[in-house]
Amino acid sequence: MTIFPGIFDSVFQQGVIGRAIERGIVQLQTHDLRDFTHDRHRQVDDMPFGGGPGMVMKPEPVVEAVEAIRRENSGPVVLMEPWGEPLSQELATELSTGTGLIIVCGRYEGIDDRVRASLRAREISIGDYVVSGGEIPAMVVIDAVARLVPGVVGDPGSLAQDTFADEMTGWPQFTRPAEFRGMTVPDVLLSGDHARIKQWRRQQAAQRRVHSKELKKT
Ligand code: SAH
Repeated sequence: MTIFPGIFDSVFQQGVIGRAIERGIVQLQTHDLRDFTHDRHRQVDDMPFGGGPGMVMKPEPVVEAVEAIRRENSGPVVLMEPWGEPLSQELATELSTGTGLIIVCGRYEGIDDRVRASLRAREISIGDYVVSGGEIPAMVVIDAVARLVPGVVGDPGSLAQDTFADEMTGWPQFTRPAEFRGMTVPDVLLSGDHARIKQWRRQQAAQRRVHSKELKKT
């Protein structure tokens, strides 16, 4: 649910998720919140009660849009909010096992607070900073969740080796050329000795500096 449905087109026409949508493994539908207004100006925002700068997203279009879409999508409602539950690999995994999601993208100063209670929505943040709308955060959620749906990523092994898939980060990756500006690829990777390669990768992953608080704890 967004006031800018076109934003999603180019991103999800490409790459892994684009192919999955083309093949019908995941479905993405965007809905224009303005289609759920009833006035001539299709107004989705209004002035904040109590004063102050900016505009606030009106509750009716959001709630009516979600009610309409709920008939086809029984998944939980997610509001993108900077103060929400932080998105993590764990949360993405949890969301990927459900039947779907209905994601609401905020704009302006945010969404009328009564929407939360009306929809018993879950609030998710992509980090402790503010961007100007919920569309980019929603794309992050959609991508992180969709790639965990079975069949989306061709080789399931590549999900298992992702950073955050377990307590490890990914390991350093190299491809051709074997020498680039005087820097060579570690010999072990050219050795063909798969046991040694595996051991080297685990060592390297363990040494990698991890900025994530989650991983630092372990
Ligand atoms: N004044 C608001 C920010 C509004 S930004 C505040 O300080 O909380 C407009 C919209 O962008 C928000 O309603 C939300 O949907 C989205 N947004 C901004 N930053 C976000 C973040 N870090 N995570 C998720 N959504 C975010």
